[in-house]
Amino acid sequence: MTAERDYYEVLGVARGAGDADIKRAFRKLAQQWHPDVNKEPEADARFKEVNEAYQVLSDPQRRQAYDMFGRAGVAGAGAGGQSPFGAGGFGGFNDIFDAFFGGSTAGAQRRGRPMQGSDLRYDLRISFREAVLGTEKEIEFPVLGRCDTCAGSGAKAGSAPVACAQCNGRGEVRSVRQTMLGQMVNVAACPRCRGEGTVIDNPCDACRGEGRTERRRSLRVTIPAGIDEGHQIRLTNEGEIGPRGGTPGSLYVAVHVAGHPTLTREGTELFYEAELSIAQAALGTKLMVPTAEGEETEVEIKPGTQPGTEIRLKGRGVPHLRRHSVRGDLHVITTVVVPTKLTKRQRELLEAYAKEGGEHVAPAGGLREKLGLG
Ligand SMILES: [Zn+2]
Ligand SMILES: [Zn+2]
Repeated sequence: MTAERDYYEVLGVARGAGDADIKRAFRKLAQQWHPDVNKEPEADARFKEVNEAYQVLSDPQRRQAYDMFGRAGVAGAGAGGQSPFGAGGFGGFNDIFDAFFGGSTAGAQRRGRPMQGSDLRYDLRISFREAVLGTEKEIEFPVLGRCDTCAGSGAKAGSAPVACAQCNGRGEVRSVRQTMLGQMVNVAACPRCRGEGTVIDNPCDACRGEGRTERRRSLRVTIPAGIDEGHQIRLTNEGEIGPRGGTPGSLYVAVHVAGHPTLTREGTELFYEAELSIAQAALGTKLMVPTAEGEETEVEIKPGTQPGTEIRLKGRGVPHLRRHSVRGDLHVITTVVVPTKLTKRQRELLEAYAKEGGEHVAPAGGLREKLGLG
């Protein structure tokens, strides 16, 4: 466990900061540390910390309690029944959504409204070339969609959902308890209507009152150039629909990229190992090198090229995912292969080469060769 940091310090704001400043600071940090974007090992923890700080400082009551008592004043407070995702759900989901898309979906999640549907994950396999160039893919998957018979209401034709008697249609129940901080009002979703505020007396036959039925959906997904293994594309509102007309969750398309037989990718950079013979390295040559686009390009090897030499083909790498005008490079790295088998003529020529340079080499034709064993 790391030491618990002060929430104001976490967000980098003054203790007297206004709501707008706190929100601005949170957005910036949430974008910076979101684990989908930031691959640093500490991103997850930092993101949670930022989120936690914002949950407290954006709520006037909790902020006041925190100012007076520190973390003890806010521990556990407000956690009950706040999230439509339930325990273990993605706390503060709306705020995160808000931070990323600047929009407001918070209204759709208030108590007394239908629950939001689940998020879905789809694993999509694409080729190396598709990842580099971008592509469009048609995907098909089973999903809970709006019931056509009742138009998602869950109620039988001719009837309608009625206000819940237990919570008078508010969708929430309140209980008051005494704590060291004084009176605390705990608000939880109504157990009878599950926080929706309405109940159905005559359920729709097609969906048994759920307001949704399973179907297959097909969708065209645009895969941006530069996508890499493990990236996720989030399609808001393309997930499962919520019960009785609740807003849909998101669809996460998890991208898996096939390897290339000879190219290695690291982010926007591509690497190719070019094998040269001794003669090619010494005398120079022209090589055909595979490119990201699936073609070949000619690369000149200068005379006297050493093993481990890098020839950089500028802009022949992978496009940057967010700035498509920027492309990485293709790095051709040379290795020199020493022959293990020589024809008689090759051996003679190499011996002559060594002799010319005054180099000592093992005498031609050892004992084994003379005996016919070589
Ligand atoms: Zn129905
Ligand atoms: Zn109720």
